Amino acid sequence: MAKTYIFWHKNPDTDTILSSIVYWEFLQSKWVDIEVVALWECNNETKFLLNKFWLTAPKIIDTLPAWSKIILVDHNEASQSIDNLNDFEIVWVIDHHKFWSFSTKSPLYIRSEALCSTCSVIYNIFKAEWYQISKTTASLMISAILSDSLLYKSPTTTDYDKKIVEELNKIAWISNIEEFAMDMFNAKSDLGDISIEDLIKIDYKEFDFNGTKAGIWVIETVNPTYSMNRKQEILKWLEEIKEKNSLDIVFLSIVDILKEKNITFVLWDKEKQVIKDIYGVDTFDNMADLGNILSRKKQVVPQFTEYFNK
Ligand code: MN
Ligand code: MN
Repeated sequence: MAKTYIFWHKNPDTDTILSSIVYWEFLQSKWVDIEVVALWECNNETKFLLNKFWLTAPKIIDTLPAWSKIILVDHNEASQSIDNLNDFEIVWVIDHHKFWSFSTKSPLYIRSEALCSTCSVIYNIFKAEWYQISKTTASLMISAILSDSLLYKSPTTTDYDKKIVEELNKIAWISNIEEFAMDMFNAKSDLGDISIEDLIKIDYKEFDFNGTKAGIWVIETVNPTYSMNRKQEILKWLEEIKEKNSLDIVFLSIVDILKEKNITFVLWDKEKQVIKDIYGVDTFDNMADLGNILSRKKQVVPQFTEYFNK
């Protein structure tokens, strides 16, 4: 019988990785024959958390056996998943993103809710199943919620997400949630002498807006100066990647988590016009000040979708 694999999205963030891990644990407890696999490496924030809770990341593999059944966590778009997605049978999707051009060959389960993180959605599944959440699992789920919501600053955050953290913290006993989140954000922002390729891989997603292929990067950080100082290097790299990935438009946003500000690098006239039309903002010196636009999911992708479908 084909085995089932659960895995996270490309350029993975803390939510997708920890969601995959806690959901895998849950399915194992129900004797489902399932394996959690990593197709892409963890970022610094997630590495910090896995270390903190004495866990090791699953081994990275390149590909899955043909005909495998798969569970997509925290994503549903082919461009964000394993390259040959169509060779597999998607049996489950757990997500909190938009669905646009999603289709499958066979019936499946989908659980998607407009909450701030996939771990919030998983919390609802656990609750309905009366699943006994362990201290470590509760801590991981809180971490994912804090990470995806940028400590509730992202407009994707609902009151219910905050309530979930309260409930989970009755098990996790994290004494100071704010401090805990800051430690995570510091780990994420500690980029040292990271290569430009790795810097830009941290949070990158490709979208197809009605035939317009877009590459959108977001660097969430408590230390924006670091990326700002590497601006020329980043711009040069964006030029190369636009060509290499045959992208029609590219944007790279640096999101200052503490000041809740977004500076977006914009290189070409086409992109400048898009930013002007959508946000009413001019670009100076290849930079557009988008103010408090913090969420790609809620404040960028829907606006771009509407713009390119007009
Ligand atoms: Mn994600
Ligand atoms: Mn997420």
